[in-house]
Amino acid sequence: MIRDVDVLVVGAGSAGAATALAFAQAGRTVVMVDKRDHGTTGARWVNAVPRWCFEEARFDVPPNAVVFAHRGSRGFHLVAPNGSARVCMRDVPLLHIDMRALVAHLVERALAAGATLLRGHVRSVDVAPEGERTVQFEDGSTQFAIRARLVVDASGLGGAVRTRVAALSDHCPTPDPVDRCSAAQYQYSVRDPEGLAAFLAQYGAQPGDDIAFPAIAGGYSTLTLFTHPDLSEVGVLTGSIPALGVDDGGAILDRFVERAPFLGERLYGGRGAIPLGRPYATLGASGVALVGDAACQVYASHGSGVGMGLLAARTLADAASGAADLGSAAVLDAYSKRYRVAYGGLLAASDLFRRYVQGLGPSDIDNMVGSGLLDVSLASAALEQRPARPDLRFVVSAPARALRAPRVALRFLPVAARTVAVDRLSPLTAAPAIGRTIDRAIHWMMGDRAVRAPEAAWTMPDPSAGAVR
Ligand SMILES: Cc1cc2nc3c(=O)[nH]c(=O)nc-3n(C[C@H](O)[C@H](O)[C@H](O)COP(=O)(O)OP(=O)(O)OC[C@H]3O[C@@H](n4cnc5c(N)ncnc54)[C@H](O)[C@@H]3O)c2cc1C
Repeated sequence: MIRDVDVLVVGAGSAGAATALAFAQAGRTVVMVDKRDHGTTGARWVNAVPRWCFEEARFDVPPNAVVFAHRGSRGFHLVAPNGSARVCMRDVPLLHIDMRALVAHLVERALAAGATLLRGHVRSVDVAPEGERTVQFEDGSTQFAIRARLVVDASGLGGAVRTRVAALSDHCPTPDPVDRCSAAQYQYSVRDPEGLAAFLAQYGAQPGDDIAFPAIAGGYSTLTLFTHPDLSEVGVLTGSIPALGVDDGGAILDRFVERAPFLGERLYGGRGAIPLGRPYATLGASGVALVGDAACQVYASHGSGVGMGLLAARTLADAASGAADLGSAAVLDAYSKRYRVAYGGLLAASDLFRRYVQGLGPSDIDNMVGSGLLDVSLASAALEQRPARPDLRFVVSAPARALRAPRVALRFLPVAARTVAVDRLSPLTAAPAIGRTIDRAIHWMMGDRAVRAPEAAWTMPDPSAGAVR
């Protein structure tokens, strides 16, 4: 039997559940289908998400999803590989979100608004440019089909629908390995709070602060600790691009954890791949819209996709508001254009910066941080997933900063100029007459995606010896 609905959402992670909620609240009939059981869909770890993404996307933050909420002043320390050059930011409006609670909240709210959640794996997709689209699912030995005006692919990096629709698979290829971050994030209890406090203190950090070590395995790799103010719990997050010849995020995390005597029991978390690169230029065709990781809507500098997926959910629902045919070319075109105008520049600039960073060795990062070329304003903008718009103070002092690290500056300042250009030009790619030309210019400015950092020894902080190797 075929079931008919307005909107079929494939994948009930944060982007899919938010999309289902937005459409159900608008009075549409919605079915979500996920290959995993209800209560286990989407990310299962702690993600850092800027507060503004929730506000702009108009989704509330369930209080039980906020890990490490506290009233004191929270620091975020970016520690260069030499251990002494640091950028310290205070009270960055970043929420540490237990994704299990956020996804459960979005799913429950969507169900309360009338949506349905089924378990099933995509088997085939049948789309016609006009009219209904049908997706066949299987769940064990059971098969079922859902026919919808609009099919939303929210199935993550694999794009279960995207890869089965010719109009999309041609333009939206699955990201190459060089455009994938391998990440791991786990929460731990703390066996030795004093040992953890001593580890933090080496870098000027206090209980309740976050501390990030970029380039620990070269280039784009990173290790970040999120600490609870009473040091009862700590989060460890790692990431890298293994296709560039470094260990994957899981191996980096295991290596740190093995040598961190202050860590206790592993509480929860997980590992997975994150698409990097710009979002696809076309976010929908043939009645199918892409949201979240399925659309590569990720802030690539640090592989953050939750906020950008929530914003996509809202942009799509707003673009479809009042439409008779939710999957029409007009709706999908409006969604693509609105998303590109609002966030395309930010995400392209962030990917350009990612490509630059992945070519840096540890000493380059020491020099960037030590010289002040990467300062609090630029680092805060990146953490908050905001456009990095250097203020007047930075511009005036840039020559002096550049003189402190001329070799790095020669590479960094043109990249900084290109990120500003890409950010400003991207909205124009939606303009009918000049869009394609601008897009080609941006493509040219983005630079090499496969650039590798020079071979370098690991600079992982040694949590047992209290020193940086
Ligand atoms: C370890 C790690 C740490 C991260 N840290 C951060 C962070 O700090 N901040 C941040 O913003 N982002 C972070 N990210 C990225 C973030 O988790 C993702 O961008 C986000 O979860 C993507 O949400 P989504 O809903 O698009 O996809 P997903 O969360 O991947 O959900 C996709 C859903 O689709 C279902 N599905 C897949 N295939 C099928 C199929 N064939 N049929 C039916 N259902 C299917 C899956 O079961 C899943 O439930 C991190 C990622 C990892 C791996």
